[in-house]
Amino acid sequence: MEPKTPRRKLRRPEYLLVIDPTVCDGYGYCVELLPSNLSFDDWGYPMIKTRKVDEQDLELAYRAVKLCPKLAFKVNKVKSKDI
Ligand code: SF4
Repeated sequence: MEPKTPRRKLRRPEYLLVIDPTVCDGYGYCVELLPSNLSFDDWGYPMIKTRKVDEQDLELAYRAVKLCPKLAFKVNKVKSKDI
């Protein structure tokens, strides 16, 4: 009888926002699209309130990635165990 190989648990991926502050120019498209995740700081730059994107907001998050004129806004797909 062969030893059983452990089964891998399937985990749902999670989607996390990343903003590169070194290139962001504060246009604010991302904040307009994702007000539940982002807000403006006192200088008009985006501030992350919640890094994890809810599934229902994923389409908006990817739209923000496309609209960011400085390519500063990204969504990283990660396995939940990587967090
Ligand atoms: S859309 Fe891009 S450049 Fe504009 S505030 Fe968001 S991250 Fe910054």
